[in-house]
Amino acid sequence: MRDRALELCVLGGGFTGVAAAIACLARIDVPFRLFVVEPGPALGRGLAFGGHHPLHLLNVRTRDLSIRAGQPGDFLSWAFRQLDQGENHAGLHEGLAHTFLPRQLFGEYVRQRFFEAVERRKDVELKLLTATATSCGIDRGRFRIELDRGEPLSADAVILATAYGLSPSSATGALPPYAAMAREDFVRAKSMALIGSGLTMVDVLLDARREGFSGKAIVVSRRGQLPRPHAPKGVVPQQIGLPRSKSILRLTAAVRIACEAAEAHGTPWQAIMNGLRSSLQDIWQGLAVEEQSRFLCHVRPFWDAHRHRVPIEVHGRIQAELAQGRAVLLRGHVTGVERRPDGFKLTLTRHGSLEPEALDADLAFDCTGHAPDLGSGLIQGLIGNGFARPDPHRLGLAVERNGQVLGADGCPKRGLFALGPLCQGSLWEIIGVPEIVAQADQAAASIAALYAPAEAAAPLAP
Ligand SMILES: Cc1cc2nc3c(=O)[nH]c(=O)nc-3n(C[C@H](O)[C@H](O)[C@H](O)COP(=O)(O)OP(=O)(O)OC[C@H]3O[C@@H](n4cnc5c(N)ncnc54)[C@H](O)[C@@H]3O)c2cc1C
Repeated sequence: MRDRALELCVLGGGFTGVAAAIACLARIDVPFRLFVVEPGPALGRGLAFGGHHPLHLLNVRTRDLSIRAGQPGDFLSWAFRQLDQGENHAGLHEGLAHTFLPRQLFGEYVRQRFFEAVERRKDVELKLLTATATSCGIDRGRFRIELDRGEPLSADAVILATAYGLSPSSATGALPPYAAMAREDFVRAKSMALIGSGLTMVDVLLDARREGFSGKAIVVSRRGQLPRPHAPKGVVPQQIGLPRSKSILRLTAAVRIACEAAEAHGTPWQAIMNGLRSSLQDIWQGLAVEEQSRFLCHVRPFWDAHRHRVPIEVHGRIQAELAQGRAVLLRGHVTGVERRPDGFKLTLTRHGSLEPEALDADLAFDCTGHAPDLGSGLIQGLIGNGFARPDPHRLGLAVERNGQVLGADGCPKRGLFALGPLCQGSLWEIIGVPEIVAQADQAAASIAALYAPAEAAAPLAP
């Protein structure tokens, strides 16, 4: 038997970290001490559900979101209770189910569920630490986590939930998305370049319009793909039979044909995409690394545009921007961004051309999307000491399905987990709320099994 309480440490208190904490509170039925290390004020919200703009909408319908594993519809119940005036209005419930609510509201729900879960577990001691974890190693058979402030922590299990890192950054030299800007800068600007054409571009362009930007937006993207709209009403996911082929080109052709056939029979193609979602981790892990790379190189932009969709109203606003010439979409590749006193100078090569050309814009934003931060001292240290290794595509860390981290030797590291976007290269479909919640639940169940009361306190293998 242990001579002291189990200690768990969650590094990163964004959405994934809090989902992990909630799952541990639900799954581990012995008393334990829970440390959540998060330097910022966005506990439970992180980059996605924080305070960028109150009008940023979720890209998933209310009925399809829940922070509680095995309780679909929990966000809908919560949202309904916020709005219902006691009349148990069925129309309101149905309407809400299909609505895309503000992302900040979802963040509020996550925080509330977290504190409720803590409240229910009087035998769990929670410590929220405002700090950045700088390293994680092993000391006398336990994890030792160094922080940028305060005493180091010791823990029996560590969950890495640091995803996109400490703040949105720019890979191109343009302004990072969601950069704090004065309203006058938007009002004054006559032109704006947006590098990337996915969901981040949509956020940045619509924010700029709200802030008074009335100039021309030039959206530059290699493949020229824009996010597609959701179906007008929530659709029932349709399962399709896929070929047993391990060729990504054959698989994507099969998906395209299934979508076209569905449309021809009056079923929105979105139903096929939704139906695929639950098998995507299996499909991804069944592909050879070269096929996965082929997908990332050739298919990903098209996949992302169909998989990461926007509400119909938002889609309509982007289409109107293009139709009225207020925005243009250029297919091309930005090779340089120079920041000047009076604006930005971009160098871009248009699709089909070999000649680079210059593009001047008063403002320029990097909307190429958010990638997990593998460069932090914490993650680099774990890779350096052999506790972790990057996945073959260097999108994140090599992990098992439940997030258990694979070391340099390819073996799972007892008690060390990485969840959410950090697992994208290993699992692919793992950045959306339902997959993160399911993975957090699996990780918590594994930790519960590892540290079940009958289990002697075995030291951690280095
Ligand atoms: C803009 C945006 C909108 C999205 N909208 C939706 C949606 O509508 N529906 C949906 O299903 N999914 C959506 N997603 C996807 C998904 O929900 C996110 O992938 C998810 O929120 C990731 O959360 P996270 O906690 O892993 O990462 P992050 O939000 O990046 O949080 C990581 C946290 O770790 C902290 N941290 C970093 N390094 C350290 C360290 N060394 N020590 C301690 N703490 C550290 C950071 O401060 C941060 O708070 C969206 C994603 C984005 C980016």
